[in-house]
Amino acid sequence: MALTGIVIFKLLPKTNCGECGVPTCLAFAMNLAAGKVELAACPYVSEEAKARLEEASAPPIRLVTIGVGARALKIGGETVMFRHEKRFENPPGLAILFSDAMDEAEVNARLERLGQLQYERVGLKLRPELVAIKAESGNAEKFAALVNKVKQGTDANIILMSDNPDLLAAGLKACADRKPLLYAATKDNVEQVANLAKESSCPVAVKGSNLEEVIQLTTKLTAAKVNDIVIDSGSRALRQAFQDQIVIRSAALTKKFRPLGFPTIVFPCEMTRDPMKEAVIASVFVAKYGGIIVLSNLQGESLFPLLVERMNIYTDPQRPLATTEGIYEIGGPNENSPVLITTNFSLTYFLVSGEIESSRVPCYLLVMNTDGLSVMTSWAAGKFVADAIAPFVKKTGIWDKVKHKKLVIPGYIAAESGGLEEELAGCEILIGPRESAHIPAYLKTWKP
Ligand code: SF4
Repeated sequence: MALTGIVIFKLLPKTNCGECGVPTCLAFAMNLAAGKVELAACPYVSEEAKARLEEASAPPIRLVTIGVGARALKIGGETVMFRHEKRFENPPGLAILFSDAMDEAEVNARLERLGQLQYERVGLKLRPELVAIKAESGNAEKFAALVNKVKQGTDANIILMSDNPDLLAAGLKACADRKPLLYAATKDNVEQVANLAKESSCPVAVKGSNLEEVIQLTTKLTAAKVNDIVIDSGSRALRQAFQDQIVIRSAALTKKFRPLGFPTIVFPCEMTRDPMKEAVIASVFVAKYGGIIVLSNLQGESLFPLLVERMNIYTDPQRPLATTEGIYEIGGPNENSPVLITTNFSLTYFLVSGEIESSRVPCYLLVMNTDGLSVMTSWAAGKFVADAIAPFVKKTGIWDKVKHKKLVIPGYIAAESGGLEEELAGCEILIGPRESAHIPAYLKTWKP
């Protein structure tokens, strides 16, 4: 049974040093009991206390890492059923399928698409994170050669797919340094696959024919000290697979049922042959509650909406997307270029910077930290007003970059112009357009 916050508190150092990110050990204990933090956040817990806290500190859904380095994918670690309760933590990884039954041209084409289909949006790079390499030929050498080729062709994380432990071992030999996900341990091979996972310290997926079988498999693996597990409930019918996702998440979170406390993998690629239907099915699992979603192929027209859906659902609803504060140089500005200011709400920044780019008038854009609030909201909240803007403008050192002293403010905060002229002595405040769409026309009239 999970320990209470008070019991956990008694096992902590009680020095209130704050290194875990909260000011007191009691606050940390409460967060730990609620599954909001990990025990590793406190560097001073004794080994004895660690052992006792193991159960309380384990998140209800285990955080599993696939791969190594900066591109390693973390899945699981979820603490809520519904996004509005807090937030979803780790976005599902999207995978594209490769098979050793494919000819070389097809493999090359898929690798090329994987490299090309990457998108920048609100400052984030959106792209698939995984390749799922399937052993279909039954030939270990052929499989290992494909794994090697794909490994050389992409830095995406790898899933090795076979229910034959010998083939998995051959593939693993080619990419063990990339810590692939071994898919899959079944009732017929669980001991051998568990050994492979232990020897290589790689995560392993279990595949059952139903949830009862999954529970038996995860129980066997955890008894063998293999804990980084991903669950495939085995269903390839949308309705059942969707229901399984809900049952797994619910059992792990609301019942703290450890054998189902792992992220999942789903296979829209095996649920339909229609690419558009496959994309729709994948979108269902982006929302609820796929950990890895394996696609048969990548098509820009279906991949991009999936990536955007994922980004939207996994954005923290309590924290607006924000851009870093600072001076942004757009189009190679010089000492006579206009200086505009806006807030660091990502959408605002991308609209404004996009319109400046399309105007082809090189500009300096000052982006001020307003906690990710838009122009109107931050103005109403007193965060984007003369008293706050003036010190920020001075701090940026923008007047060392231009010969003039003119600052263009958004039309929506025209009321701040008087205050700004007082705060920024010698500076001329110009009222820009209210809507970003009118920026290009406004900039055409600019004179230093
Ligand atoms: Fe207490 Fe550890 Fe947090 Fe320090 S880091 S306040 S000792 S729980």
